[in-house]
Amino acid sequence: MQNPFENAMEQLDKVIKIKDFSKEFIARLRQPDRDIRISIPVKMDDGSVKVFEGYRVEYNNALGPYKGGIRYHKDTEINEVKALAFWMTLKCAIANIPMGGGKGGITVDPKNLSSKELENLSRGWVKKLSDILGPKKDVPAPDVNTTGEIMDWMADEFEKITGEKTRATFTGKPLGKGGSEGRGPATGLGGFYVFNSLKVQLGLPEKCEVVIQGFGNVGLNAAQIFIENGHKVLAISDSKGGIYNENGLDINKLIEYKKTTGSLSNFPETKNVTNEELLEIKCDVLIPAAFENQITGSNANNIKAKIILELANGPTTPDADEILFSKNIPVIPDVLANSGGVTVSYFEWDQNLKGEHWSEKEVFDKLLPLMNDAAQKTFEKGKEYKTDLRRGAFILGLKRIEEKI
Ligand code: NAD
Repeated sequence: MQNPFENAMEQLDKVIKIKDFSKEFIARLRQPDRDIRISIPVKMDDGSVKVFEGYRVEYNNALGPYKGGIRYHKDTEINEVKALAFWMTLKCAIANIPMGGGKGGITVDPKNLSSKELENLSRGWVKKLSDILGPKKDVPAPDVNTTGEIMDWMADEFEKITGEKTRATFTGKPLGKGGSEGRGPATGLGGFYVFNSLKVQLGLPEKCEVVIQGFGNVGLNAAQIFIENGHKVLAISDSKGGIYNENGLDINKLIEYKKTTGSLSNFPETKNVTNEELLEIKCDVLIPAAFENQITGSNANNIKAKIILELANGPTTPDADEILFSKNIPVIPDVLANSGGVTVSYFEWDQNLKGEHWSEKEVFDKLLPLMNDAAQKTFEKGKEYKTDLRRGAFILGLKRIEEKI
């Protein structure tokens, strides 16, 4: 497993080779403002106490309060959280929202915890960090394996400790508990808006064949949105593997199938594929929507997609980027492609602070122009500097941050 923070810094290095930024600014961006590690003692159902390791990285707040999700995963560690916080800093700048970058996490496999233990753990994370959180300071959200229910527990714990009642400290909360309409599909929908905005410029057909890695919030919503808009999803996977049908999948039937069998395997009229095989299927749009380091120097040469739309964070390593660029396979980078999630999180924060509740239509109507603008400005920067979309997006975001620092 490559170190995601080293990869993030390598991406930055590649950008400063083609565009001048002040040395002081770049030096500042090589370190988070602070990274915090905490230990969280949790009372388990059998009466014992288990201690978990947790993190919050506050990367940069030049544009606004630190903002970024909390990941629960057995492999989560500080370098991953730092990388995710760095990318959040750029993402908010690229989407042009007044938020800085942060990220949090806990090293835990939540599947091994009961609901009560998960609640104790989540409240424990807030107890240790309540001093640094707040609507104008640091605003967390969900990420891998964290849900609206977890955000609700966290918001409740924060309110108990501080008395702060706006609920604007956590986003991604359930509807009726201060959540925003449209937050669920926001990342997938934002990715779809970005794809649509660039479709013609990237030479894609009117109706595309799509392959998706990941069957969680992002992958599943993306699958539904692409299908609703007339595209075909040929293959999709979860952590155990995926399924493929060259004529397209019925996602709603597949959701029911996974609910009853617990897996995607052997879904009727499909072929089982491994996650490695899935990435190499011939298609128009390949969407990694699971984890970092999926497209690497060892498989990039085998990618047969026309473009890659990165809805996961950090799925393509820097060496794979070079191979894909030389093969003329554009990569719509994570910092642009998945910025719809944080944008609707920002809308939720804004609604909480103003005491408003916007309709789903209002939310999507505000999201669309921001995504179109970010996509087109990224494309223009790529063209101006004769480089790939990742470097184009970085240049756009870095310039906006540098102006405010
Ligand atoms: P999730 O926990 O809802 O889903 C993750 C999915 O990935 C699950 O279906 C899981 O089975 C699958 N998975 C796990 N390991 C895998 C593997 N090795 N190969 C294939 N699939 C695997 O998480 P999510 O919220 O959908 O996040 C997915 C990615 O999108 C992450 O990189 C996350 O940082 C990024 N992202 C999420 C949001 C958001 O709003 N949730 C916003 C921006 C970016």
